[in-house]
Amino acid sequence: MIETYSPCVAYFSMEVGLEPAMPTYSGGLGVLAGDTLRTAADLGVPMVGVSLLYRQGYFAQHIDESGRQIEKPEKWSPEQFLRPMRPRVQMEIEGRTVHLTAWRYLIVGARGHSVPVYFLDADLPENSEFDRSLAGQLYGGDQRYRVCQEALLGIGGLRMLEALRHDNIRVFHLNEGHAAFLTIGVLEQETHGKGIHLATDLDIEAVRDRCVFTTHTPVPAGHDQFPIDLVRSVLGDGRVSAPAIAATIMDGRINMTYLGIHFSRRVNGVAMRHAQVTRTMFPHTAINAITNGVHAVTWAAEPMRRLFDHHIPEWRRDNHYLRYASSIPKTEIRQAHQESKLALVDMVRQRTGRVLDPDVFTIGFARRATAYKRMRLLFSDLNRLRRISGDVGPIQIVLGGKAHPRDEQGKHLIQMVVNASRDLSESVRVVFVEGYDMGTAAMMCAGVDLWVNTPQKPMEASGTSGMKAAINGVPSLSVMDGWWIEGYVEGVTGWAIDEHWKAATTDEGEAASLYDKLERVIVPMFYRNPDAYASAMRSAIAINGSFFNSQRMVQQYVENAYPVLS
Ligand SMILES: *Cc1c(COP(=O)(O)O)cnc(C)c1O
Repeated sequence: MIETYSPCVAYFSMEVGLEPAMPTYSGGLGVLAGDTLRTAADLGVPMVGVSLLYRQGYFAQHIDESGRQIEKPEKWSPEQFLRPMRPRVQMEIEGRTVHLTAWRYLIVGARGHSVPVYFLDADLPENSEFDRSLAGQLYGGDQRYRVCQEALLGIGGLRMLEALRHDNIRVFHLNEGHAAFLTIGVLEQETHGKGIHLATDLDIEAVRDRCVFTTHTPVPAGHDQFPIDLVRSVLGDGRVSAPAIAATIMDGRINMTYLGIHFSRRVNGVAMRHAQVTRTMFPHTAINAITNGVHAVTWAAEPMRRLFDHHIPEWRRDNHYLRYASSIPKTEIRQAHQESKLALVDMVRQRTGRVLDPDVFTIGFARRATAYKRMRLLFSDLNRLRRISGDVGPIQIVLGGKAHPRDEQGKHLIQMVVNASRDLSESVRVVFVEGYDMGTAAMMCAGVDLWVNTPQKPMEASGTSGMKAAINGVPSLSVMDGWWIEGYVEGVTGWAIDEHWKAATTDEGEAASLYDKLERVIVPMFYRNPDAYASAMRSAIAINGSFFNSQRMVQQYVENAYPVLS
């Protein structure tokens, strides 16, 4: 049942990850959006999702002999997953009329409540070639392409909700700045009749009353900024020169984060530390924090789900019950985890032809291959890695991650680790699994023994893959950044790379700390004190799984950011 009368939240996101086979996302931002919408359906929070359809997805990744990433379009058939909607809407882009239709994915939650997610589609015969191509690639093309896509999302998305008769939207939740043109559309609604150039403070307050903004990155390059002339040519001079909008322009540019923040009543970071860092970027704004979480039922692997169902059956309805994982016998946790490990070994063999040993200590590291995630850190001293594996206990490593097609530095990182893995040869077996996506992420996070995370402080807004690992009883070894500052208890839920999270550190210092922890604490414990290791596995579930889940996150949004619902 779709509730059309009670006040409802419209969640706008450039990417939404709902199924591994639907390439409508690129990474953490989209996966979080999917987990949020799924959780709203589970909890019965009235919500609709709005995003764009990408017929070529993000990209399919291949790694060639030399370690270079090759990109190909991801082929898929939207009609296999989505239902076409009847309404058509129109909007002006660069003075042309662009026609839009939408496809619906219906999420049915655990108790039968449903949340529709609409993917806007500009690939219609009545549109120009260029406008049709806007339904092509996620994060593809140049700045003009991106501004046009974001205009479709924000302004087209609002029109589509009206056409679909969702007349009850009380809250617009902007998931990152990509959706910020929505605020212009909402201002147009609020000033209906007189036009936005006459918008008063009261009109602006009315927009703020309805908008909530979540920011996801403290990396400046992660915030879209467009030259004002470009935005003017796409959206029209009437919108850009309206005083209410012109007030948000800085140095001849529209910063989408700033635009979103300006028109929002509430602004969130995605972890406590991230909110702190964001306050220094936007000093005149109140920035709150709601720490991210992951959809527990989706990310717990099948063997873990069975174990939880047996011991704490309430966990599906109420993730708090994961706290009682502390009463599950450690041997059963180890057995369930070993099943996930065998499944990972199997997947790796099928996809790479390489054979991992299910009895060997296995490290997982899979991330968007971008400089600040520092994929190289683990490989910065190959001799040390060889020595730990040879003297303390054997190690094998599973890697994955895509670099954005235009991120040469990121591609170079992949090449470097692929080559390092060849140098390590059989002394430390390293496999790189191509095409990191929700499916491979789920298997890696569940099947390894340790999840390693090495972002450059303080650039990791939250990170969610370590949460997926925790729910599967996999402890983390992580730099003190993002969610780990909140989830870390040394030796209990995992280990810190350099505990001093406020002090500046160097790559060398953090690499040394990483190797020290592996050599002196973690690898010895794994091989010589498996019972102690199993305690850490169990605490990862009980302490972190019970908190860093999307039920707690969405409940916090309801309590703190969507007050009209409660
Ligand atoms: C969970 C997930 C991410 C986000 O992981 P981080 O820890 O935030 O880097 C990225 N990509 C995929 C495919 C995921 O499933």
